[in-house]
Parts: sequence; C-alpha cells; structure tokens
Amino acid sequence: MTLEETAARGRIRRGRLWLLGWAITLGPALWIAARAANRKFALAGTALVWTIGIALAAGRLMFARCPRCGRLFHSTNGAPSVAKLFAGRCGHCGLRLRPERVVYPSLE
Ligand SMILES: [Zn+2]
Repeated sequence: MTLEETAARGRIRRGRLWLLGWAITLGPALWIAARAANRKFALAGTALVWTIGIALAAGRLMFARCPRCGRLFHSTNGAPSVAKLFAGRCGHCGLRLRPERVVYPSLE
C-alpha cells in the first residue's frame, strides 16, 4: 500500500462523510428555516443550498478514481453511478476502502 493509495482512500472516505453530512443535516436545516420570519424565502434558500451541496458531494464521489486501477471507484461498468456510492470495494480491482488489519506485519 503506497502513500498515494492511502491518501486517495482517505479522500473517498471524506467524500462519503460529506455526502452523509449534507443528507443528515437537511432535516434540521429545514426545521430551522421553517421557524424563520420570512419562512418561504428561508425554506427555498435552505433547500437550494442543501440540494447543491448534496449534488456536488455525490458528483465528486461518483467520479472518484481508484488509486490502484485508475478507474471509477464506485462503478462496475465504467459509467458513473450513484447506485454504489457506499460500496466498500473498488468495482474493478476490489481495493478496499478500509485498510486491512495486519496482526503480524512480518508475515506479509
Ligand atoms: Zn480499482
């Protein structure tokens, strides 16, 4: 495992956290916006900002490249897809996102 592979896997994991963060905070943000004085404008603005955030995070994750094979990490056929954004392995070479636990490094 090279340093570039480790860094690229970290970027993909952070991209997932961003996508989850946008999705999880959508409800509370809309709840807060619904209590604003100018309710319609606040709801529309919040929904627009969160929609753009989710779309950008998902798009960034869809086009993430595998550090080992260089193909799209979350795709099995080469086309970008949202269906496997939370897959734990590369759809082409099987590289795991989480590092394997090595109990005895000398046995590798
Ligand atoms: Zn790969």
